[in-house]
Amino acid sequence: MRPAHPDRPARPLLIVGWDGATPELVGPWMEDGTLPHLAALAKRGAWAPLRSLVHPLSPAAWTSAITGLNPGRHGIWDFGHRAPDTYRVDPTTARERHGATVWDIAEDCGLRWAALNVPLSHPAPATTRGVFVPGLGAEELEGNTWPRELAAQIEAELPGFRMDSNAYEHADPADFLADVNAMIQQRATLATSLLQRERPDLMMCVFVATDRVQHAFWRQSSLPGVHGRGHWRFADAIRDTYRALDDALGLLVAAAGDDASVLVVSDHGFGELEGDLYLNSILEDAGWMTVRRTASRVDRLPAALRPFGRRLRAELPPRFRRREADLTFGHIDWATTRAYSRGLFGNVWLNLRGREPHGIVEPGPEADALLAAITDRLLEQTEPDGRTPLFDAVLRGAELYWGEQAAGAPDLVAVPREYRWMTRSGREIGPRGQLFSDPAVRHTGNHRMDGVFVGAGPGIAQGARPERLRLLDLTPTALALLGIEVPRGLDGVPMDDVLSCDVGWTDELPWRQPGEGAAPPDRDRLEERLRGLGYLAE
Ligand SMILES: [Zn+2]
Repeated sequence: MRPAHPDRPARPLLIVGWDGATPELVGPWMEDGTLPHLAALAKRGAWAPLRSLVHPLSPAAWTSAITGLNPGRHGIWDFGHRAPDTYRVDPTTARERHGATVWDIAEDCGLRWAALNVPLSHPAPATTRGVFVPGLGAEELEGNTWPRELAAQIEAELPGFRMDSNAYEHADPADFLADVNAMIQQRATLATSLLQRERPDLMMCVFVATDRVQHAFWRQSSLPGVHGRGHWRFADAIRDTYRALDDALGLLVAAAGDDASVLVVSDHGFGELEGDLYLNSILEDAGWMTVRRTASRVDRLPAALRPFGRRLRAELPPRFRRREADLTFGHIDWATTRAYSRGLFGNVWLNLRGREPHGIVEPGPEADALLAAITDRLLEQTEPDGRTPLFDAVLRGAELYWGEQAAGAPDLVAVPREYRWMTRSGREIGPRGQLFSDPAVRHTGNHRMDGVFVGAGPGIAQGARPERLRLLDLTPTALALLGIEVPRGLDGVPMDDVLSCDVGWTDELPWRQPGEGAAPPDRDRLEERLRGLGYLAE
């Protein structure tokens, strides 16, 4: 790998991630002065919706953003993945990632870089020119930063440094919001000081606050175009969070210097969440799955009392009602199960002979016919109103993703309408015959396909307003801005619509094997954390 212009020093590039920032909010708030620093960037540069990937989930989306590869090549889809030869789901880390990140490529070109809090980016790569702080998925700083001593330094300068914060960890919304705010301030301080101390050619720093607050408070919030919610005490929490990120952005842009290009990107957008889905109940009803159910306490009552028992159960607080739904993959009879759903948002796998440990579906025509039948069945499903189709699309994983890791894709990818519904890891199997459920952990917001791109500085066209850009194109665009030749072998391409610099190309494809140059993991603690997030089976 080499710079496209070896004679010219690299121009610095700052990439700021706002996890889940959505164009429906960012647009009006840039107009009305809520986000002055972001608006200033858009004014002297480009802004557009940024299309995520199906599913618009942080592990797949951020990994595609930092590699320029589709999940079929980098191999990461979800927070968990099935361990080979078992039905057990293991938590995903960058140790499962194939391919080189934008900072790996910068390293190969002799540039200095810093990657801060990028989700699922740990463990730290051992490098000579990089500074690394882990993001979502890493339990602690200790052992996960590069250089190693940076962890102690951060703890000393920013005691209690938070890598994440979630509403359900706090009884009181005020505590949660105070915690989120502290997280934003600490991250901004760290990023600003690293920019000033290290002068990296490339810095990428992701703020997850937007995602966490929108999940928790979307429906309760007063938002542009939505009126009548202003009575709630925290109705402006989402706006205040964006505003705090905008303040942080101002500090980072100033610290990066006038010669830096700046990109602000999100991995997906946001909108309302109606509820969770037990997709497996569709498969069970159709006879494609067998769940070994022990009779519930209600069913054990004398017949005359059962309606009363059911009514009583419906009135219990959800934490008691949940007990009825505490079935896991351990309750599936694999010898008679032909298909199953697991993971976030909507995925179906066949119980395929030769792939799953107790696979019974023959690959080839039998598997193909079953996938077609399941697709039809899913497309017939409606929302609780009985009319609106529940799924926008049911796609074959093999057609959606391509590359050496594509065998790890779900066999079917079911897209719930606008992602207003979602399946949830660890809650895959519900009460018999129940498809819909209240959202776990009381979320009222969920992801959408369109995130945000705002960019300005040397190499970016002033006033560019393309209709839509693609997250997959972030890494090639960043390489072009850094003056590094863009590998033709990436799936993404530089964003022609916003670039005013010339682009050099190379046939060389930088690559890292999974786990190359990384430290050993700490799986138990990671699983504990993901379980808390509602992402893994209990
Ligand atoms: Zn999220």
